[in-house]
Amino acid sequence: MPIPFCVCQACSDARQAAGKNLRKRSSIAINDDLLVDIGPDVATASFVHGVSLTDIRFCLLTHAHADHFDPEFLMSRHEEYATIVAPEMLIAGSSDALRSIDEILGNRCEYGSVFAQDTQRTLKIHLLTVEPFKTQAIGDYRLTGYPASHGPEKGCLLYAIEQGQHAVFYGTDTSVLSEQVWEHLLLAGTQFDLLVLDHTYGVGFDASPPDHLASVDVIGHVARFRRSGLLTDNATAYATHISHEGCLEHDELDQYAAAHGYRIAFDGLSLSFDA
Ligand SMILES: [Zn+2]
Ligand SMILES: [Zn+2]
Ligand SMILES: [Zn+2]
Repeated sequence: MPIPFCVCQACSDARQAAGKNLRKRSSIAINDDLLVDIGPDVATASFVHGVSLTDIRFCLLTHAHADHFDPEFLMSRHEEYATIVAPEMLIAGSSDALRSIDEILGNRCEYGSVFAQDTQRTLKIHLLTVEPFKTQAIGDYRLTGYPASHGPEKGCLLYAIEQGQHAVFYGTDTSVLSEQVWEHLLLAGTQFDLLVLDHTYGVGFDASPPDHLASVDVIGHVARFRRSGLLTDNATAYATHISHEGCLEHDELDQYAAAHGYRIAFDGLSLSFDA
């Protein structure tokens, strides 16, 4: 955002106002070793915001849409690039997402299937299939995937990521959460310090689009997380995956959001929790 060839009011205003109105494709780095989504802007974001990716050991995939997965970054781990890569990187995602990245990579290069041991050795990766609703340990994180409601796409995941006493819920590329997801969240009982939700459709959009959330849905979801006891007292909720439809200038949109219990994320936003 702005979308390069779009002359709609929101995109034109964003170009003019610049600053926080210029948004790269969504991802989040947690500590210095965990990255959720390795989309086409990840390298640029890492330079601009001074977040090195060289220590990333865990790369979670929400899904393999092109704004969330760019095969070039995996390819650049190959010896043909003369890269010195350390450490090994665990790529975690649903079985559908892992199959998709294998296909995407297969169409781009001849390094072999990511499921093959040889390829994994060469790229210094290994894979972890995330089964929805099952909590797994990766390093000292506890990871749980929840099925997203992302149009007809299968195997898109939202993630609960916990470490020590702290927990983050990262939920982009989803429409309204299914009742099954709510049930499991309540059952797990994790209280999140940070809730991140999709906000592709902004102010004035009808509730419950099939593939993403609109601001009215985000308001409802944040309220439900809160009243269900799924947020800590000091928790913050942030909207991400902001696009041009129903998008206001950042400060204005953030004021609107703040009046409704959440905030609008921006590129380079950095948050920390008390130990
Ligand atoms: Zn536009
Ligand atoms: Zn997306
Ligand atoms: Zn998507």
